[in-house]
Amino acid sequence: MDTKQTATTCKNAFDVQAVVDALRLVLGESRSPVSLHEPCFGGNEWVYVKDCLDSGWVSSVGAYVDRFEQALAEVTGAGRAIAVVNGTAALHIALMLAGVEPDDEVLVPALTFVATANAVSYCGAVPHFVDSEFRTMGLDATKLADYLGEIAETSAKGCRNRMTGRRIRAAVPMHTFGCPVDLDPLLECCAGYGIVVVEDAAESLGSYYKGRHTGTLGRVGTLSFNGNKLVTTGGGGAILVNDTELGRQAKHITTTARQPHRWRLYHDQVGYNYRLPNLNAALGCAQLEQLAGFVESKRALARHYAEAFRDVPGVQVFVEPEFARSNYWLNALLLDEKFSDQRDAVLEQTNQSGFLTRPSWALMHKLPMYHACPRMDLAVAESIERRLINLPSSAALGKSDA
Ligand SMILES: *Cc1c(COP(=O)(O)O)cnc(C)c1O
Repeated sequence: MDTKQTATTCKNAFDVQAVVDALRLVLGESRSPVSLHEPCFGGNEWVYVKDCLDSGWVSSVGAYVDRFEQALAEVTGAGRAIAVVNGTAALHIALMLAGVEPDDEVLVPALTFVATANAVSYCGAVPHFVDSEFRTMGLDATKLADYLGEIAETSAKGCRNRMTGRRIRAAVPMHTFGCPVDLDPLLECCAGYGIVVVEDAAESLGSYYKGRHTGTLGRVGTLSFNGNKLVTTGGGGAILVNDTELGRQAKHITTTARQPHRWRLYHDQVGYNYRLPNLNAALGCAQLEQLAGFVESKRALARHYAEAFRDVPGVQVFVEPEFARSNYWLNALLLDEKFSDQRDAVLEQTNQSGFLTRPSWALMHKLPMYHACPRMDLAVAESIERRLINLPSSAALGKSDA
C-alpha cells in the first residue's frame, strides 16, 4: 500500500514542491538566485592577468599561451594541445584535420549543443544525427553499429551512405554534461567503416573514460573554456592530438598559416586567425591549477544531489556508469516518462524559487537549418529532451562536503 496516498496526493500526481525542497536541502536558503553555472576565481587569476598588462604581452603571442598549452597536455595526457579562440573554432579545425570535406556526412548526436553541428556546416559537410543512450546521455555505439549495418557500405574511398550517396567521413561523440561516452565499442565500430572519431570534449575537462582523459582517445579532441565551462579563459578552446604531424598542422592552420620566420610575412595556405590571446591564456593557467579541486567539488555536489533526491518520487538524478569518472559539469535530473508533462511546471517553480534550472537543448534536427539532415531513429534523445532538467552546478556549491 502507498502510505503517502491521501485525498490531495494520489500516486499519479507529481509533487513539484518535493523537487524544490530537495534543491533547498542541497543548496540552502539563499537571498539571491542560484545560477546554473558560475566561474570560480580563487587562485592566481589576478596575478597572471596583471603580469600580461605589466609586460605588454596581451595579444596572440606570449608566454602564457605556450604555458597553457603545456599545462593542458600534461593534465589530459594528450601528445599536444593547441589553444584557440573558442571551442567551436577548435571543432571546425578538428574536423578539417580529420579530413572532412564539402558534401561529406559527419555523424553527430542529436542531443548536443549547436556548435557540434555548426562546425560540420563550416566544413561544407552535412551533419547526420544519431541517437544517445540513457547510461551516458551520449552516443549509443550499439545502436549506431546496427544502423550503419543497414545504411552504410565500405569501399576503397571509405564509408558511403547508400541512402544519400555521400561519404560518411567522421563521427563526433560528445561527452554530455561531462559524462564520458562508452568509447571502446564506438572506436571499434568506426574503425570497421574507416570513420574518423573526433571527440567533442567541450564539457568534459577532468573526465576520464577507463582511466584515460576524454578528448585523447579519438584522432582529434576539442575542449572549450567558455565562461560557463568548468575551467574558463573568458572565451577559449583547445585542440588535442597525439599525432605530431596533426599537431603541427593544427598550430599552423589556427595561426594564419604563416611560415615561421623572424621578419618575413608569408602564408602558405588559407589559414584562420583562431589564436587564443595571451590575456585569456593567463586566466586559463590560473584556472587549470585549480582543476582537481573544481572536479572534487563537482563530484561532491553530485553526491549531495543523489542523496537529496533519493526519496523524491518520479525523478532520478543522473549518475555516471562504472567505466566513467565524470567531472559532473552539469548535474541532471530526469523525470519519469509518465511525468514528462510536468517538466515545465518544475522549471517554472524552481526558477520562481531562485534555483535557476534549465531544460535540455532543443534537439539538432528540430532546428530550422538542420531540419532536412539525415538522421536515424532518435527515440532516446527525444525521451531525454522531454524529461531532462539541469540543476545548479557551480563548483562553489559543492565545497561543503564533510
Ligand atoms: C561549450 C560547447 C562547445 C564550444 O563552445 P564555445 O562557446 O565555442 O567555446 C562545443 N560543444 C559543446 C557540446 C559545448 O558544450
